[in-house]
Amino acid sequence: MGVLTKKVKGAEDILPRDSYKWQFVEDVMKQQAEVYGFKEIRTPVFEHTMLFNRGVGETTDVVQKEMYTFDTKGGESITLRPEGTAGAARAYLEHALYNDGLPVKAYYLLSCYRYEKAQAGRQREFHQFGMETYGASDAKADAEMICAANSVFERLGVKNVRLELNSIGCKTCRKDFTNALKEYFGKYTDKLCATCLSRLERNPMRILDCKSEICSAIAKDAPKVLDYICTDCSQHFERVKSFLDVAEVDYTVNPTIVRGLDYYTRTVFEFVTDTIGAQGTVCGGGRYDGLIEELGGQPTPSLGFAMGIERLLLVMQSQGIELPQPKTCDLYIAALGENAEKKAFEFVRELRDSSLIAEMDIVGRGLRAQMKYADKIKAKFSMVIGDDDINANKASVKNMSTGDKFDVPLDKGFFEAFIEKYAIMEQTGIIDSLK
Ligand code: ATP
Ligand code: MG
Repeated sequence: MGVLTKKVKGAEDILPRDSYKWQFVEDVMKQQAEVYGFKEIRTPVFEHTMLFNRGVGETTDVVQKEMYTFDTKGGESITLRPEGTAGAARAYLEHALYNDGLPVKAYYLLSCYRYEKAQAGRQREFHQFGMETYGASDAKADAEMICAANSVFERLGVKNVRLELNSIGCKTCRKDFTNALKEYFGKYTDKLCATCLSRLERNPMRILDCKSEICSAIAKDAPKVLDYICTDCSQHFERVKSFLDVAEVDYTVNPTIVRGLDYYTRTVFEFVTDTIGAQGTVCGGGRYDGLIEELGGQPTPSLGFAMGIERLLLVMQSQGIELPQPKTCDLYIAALGENAEKKAFEFVRELRDSSLIAEMDIVGRGLRAQMKYADKIKAKFSMVIGDDDINANKASVKNMSTGDKFDVPLDKGFFEAFIEKYAIMEQTGIIDSLK
């Protein structure tokens, strides 16, 4: 006997009985991205490590502590993507997508890998839906991005997610703010946590994001970024808000929301919920006007967001949101004897060719067990074929929920006879769609 291998800690299986939830949510995401004019981009699971050092940022927790990095046999340093923005930006440059005309708008659905402490809503392999816009500096692009994320929550019927909004200014006005933060937090070097102490020099804005009680208490009275941003940035922020007002999307301005990378500029936002405990940020995004340049391209105003799919599903579950159940078997054909099995096989194939879900026994069960199975898989209709039925060229189809029965011939007329009754009983437009 072999020894069972278990999944790696922090990774989860998505099982056949649950995958319909993922498919439903992902379909909504794709549809929303597409009505907002975004096209899908798919990038590799791994990239050169350097991409993330630059594209996520050397000073972030993700790069400092959380990446799955390894050397290949050829001695190259490779990293499993911890997020989707860097890979999309690399592809944008590598394939000169800007030649297709700006703005370029892309969305993705992908798995991410971060070595962090696994808990509810925090995994080592997890999934994100995200959107990216390249080449748009106007505030309407920010508002469009936020509306697109918000529309996913709306379409899924998710309630109680707050949109928290902030502006962290541009390269120029950030300097004053950073200096003010250094001066303020510099007074608390004996109290700040070790991580924040190291942030003090390199990236003091990240201290505002620290989850430790002491640091966040100190951060409460820290200088507020909105008092430091320049007129241009401030006007941009006002315009983002005014377009959100036009779209009737509610927000609260939260000055502690920072995304902390050097190339994050101006708008930053998060969608937060209190219904799933500590891991309450379901979606985060903002503008990164410096990113493409950082990766070797021309200055290109860009922005985007990423939404955690596991966290979204947790929120939906906690709010009792019912998802449409997956389709069940339209017709189960129970057959006994070689001739009957051949007939069943032929009919099943014919139904499947017309996109109906048809099943028959493939494990060698007896008739009673086959019918039990039809019940278990919640087949809508069932039908039994034995030698007698073949001789009589007729079998009886049973509506499993009402018990109603009707006859069908077991020859070329089978398909039409079944479909006609099926359409009436199930009130579907199947006959029209087959024409
Ligand atoms: P957190 O502060 O919760 O660690 P983050 O700032 O690291 O989040 P982002 O890099 O902005 O997260 O990723 C966007 C979204 O991806 C998050 O809002 C969250 O929904 C999801 N996410 C991030 N890390 C994980 C993880 N380890 N497991 C599950 N979902 C995650
Ligand atoms: Mg994190």
